[in-house]
Amino acid sequence: MASMTEALKTIEQYKSDNPHYSEMLDILTEMLNLREQYSAPAGSSIFQVDENLIPRKVAKGEPLIDFSSDQFDAALPKSYFLRLLDIAAEQSPDKVQEMTDRLYDGELDFEKMIRQIFVPISEEEFPEEDDDNFFDLVKFFLRESLRPELEKIAHKYGDKISELGWSEGYCPICGKEPKIGKIKAGDARRYLFCSHCGFEWNYRRVKCPFCGNEEQQTLAYFTIEGDERCRVDVCNVCKRYIKIIDLRGSEQEANLDVEDMVTLHLDILAHEEGYR
Ligand SMILES: [Zn+2]
Ligand SMILES: [Zn+2]
Repeated sequence: MASMTEALKTIEQYKSDNPHYSEMLDILTEMLNLREQYSAPAGSSIFQVDENLIPRKVAKGEPLIDFSSDQFDAALPKSYFLRLLDIAAEQSPDKVQEMTDRLYDGELDFEKMIRQIFVPISEEEFPEEDDDNFFDLVKFFLRESLRPELEKIAHKYGDKISELGWSEGYCPICGKEPKIGKIKAGDARRYLFCSHCGFEWNYRRVKCPFCGNEEQQTLAYFTIEGDERCRVDVCNVCKRYIKIIDLRGSEQEANLDVEDMVTLHLDILAHEEGYR
């Protein structure tokens, strides 16, 4: 995993190359700085995993953490979330104040909000906002609020899961679907990345992570001329897509949190082409 200093250097590079992304990249920089504070590497996670159950879970394609039933103490993610909201306060002070008040009053239930990120059952806990940008940022921060705790689980059990051989297209740690991945320089294999917990796992190159389709004729990819490093793998059976950073022929490692953000134009393109 690329270090914080490297990540920040990458961000600065991207900012000068893509000035239109600079506002988002500033938010990401502040977020990564905060994340570091909440990621005490030696600390135990708020999530409990029964190590003995791992082989069976992997065999059955069940993620280690089940957000529909597992219990955890949300105090730490909540305090991280409130710090993250401060970043949004620079843009939307009133909205942040209102949300913070409602969280303190108990009118909004933080734990329900984060569970809904992982198990989307109903939207009722989310305050409906007119301002989509603010709402998107809140969802982004909600997801991020659990990242340090989930990352601890990914670090602790990731090797074991890779050894056992996880073959699903969703994350073995937290169950979420990937939006981005990479082809490694060394083994030229494809790895999918979970932005909820930071875990990466190997997944066959010619296979759709979302529906399992392996027919070469219905799998394709596109790139933007002049930027062949980042491509979009699409499946014409389920009409889903995933962004892939091709690191072959490159010395540099990629920070996929950063890459995901600076490739938003590819998401827009994919949506325009009818993929979701
Ligand atoms: Zn995950
Ligand atoms: Zn598919």
